Amino acid sequence: EKVFSGFSKTRENLAVVDELLLYWNLADTDRVLDELEEALLVSDFGPRISFKIVDCLREDILAGKLKSGSEIKEALKRSVLQLLTSKGNKSDLQLGFRKPAVIMVVGVNGGGKTTSLGKLACRLKNEGVKVLLAAGDTFRAAASEQLEVWAERTGSEIVVAEGDKVKAASVLSQAVRKGKEQGYDVVLCDTSGRLHTNYSLMEELVACKKAVAKVIPRAPNEILLVLDGTTGLNMLPQAREFNEVVGITGLILTKLDGSARGGCVVSVVDELGIPVKFVGVGEGVDDLQPFDAEAFVDAIFS
Ligand code: GDP
Repeated sequence: EKVFSGFSKTRENLAVVDELLLYWNLADTDRVLDELEEALLVSDFGPRISFKIVDCLREDILAGKLKSGSEIKEALKRSVLQLLTSKGNKSDLQLGFRKPAVIMVVGVNGGGKTTSLGKLACRLKNEGVKVLLAAGDTFRAAASEQLEVWAERTGSEIVVAEGDKVKAASVLSQAVRKGKEQGYDVVLCDTSGRLHTNYSLMEELVACKKAVAKVIPRAPNEILLVLDGTTGLNMLPQAREFNEVVGITGLILTKLDGSARGGCVVSVVDELGIPVKFVGVGEGVDDLQPFDAEAFVDAIFS
């Protein structure tokens, strides 16, 4: 139950429609669908998806395929679920069979990158996976220390930059080499998330990716983008840029226990065609959960 406790606002918005649907009759269709579109918009589904969903419902109602309020509601839930899963529902990490698998975690500062990485290390450890952490955020002074705390908490080994001005790419390269030599299952790489500096973050991420691939061809296996759920639709342009430059394989949506609006999850998946792999639902070690699209839909339309 705790998983999607944070969508109270979204639930509230969409509950308005519930009441209307309860007393729906054919003559009411336009008014109900207008209200529904409005509710989707304020829940951050974005104009394109909100329109698409409502338009499909209208078509099915007029074709006589949906005959009651509850059938409309079920069709609504189905279409959201379909949007979330149509581009593949691969919420499992795709780690291949070459060891070590390499996971790079990227995203802007403050989004919950380091925390998510720590929680992910914990999950993997609990599954018996031998994890090596790589402190690839060489820019933010406290980042390595923060990751060292997580290494200790999860009993993981960690590779950190020795000395100032060590490039992130070389830390990752060193970590992946160590991972290979010492039989680790997974190397979990933190990266920088600063926004404005001389040396572009995107260039650095590309260099990190190349450095990893130089040690293990076809690595990194996963590049996970961490997005702050409370930023709503504002996360879209950011996600687009990361995806264009480094190629994102999965999303981690954080802070869904807070004031996140559920719709942005649907728009970001639909727009980028990238699955959500995990959701952050709190600050504790256990608060990173595999994304369950059905549970999510049930939660926002409960
Ligand atoms: P980074 O700069 O991207 O590495 O962000 P951090 O991992 O340092 O996280 C920024 C803040 O967000 C910290 O205070 C975290 O505890 C908090 N945080 C991260 N994930 C979650 C989450 O899922 N829920 C909540 N409530 N807070 C989170």
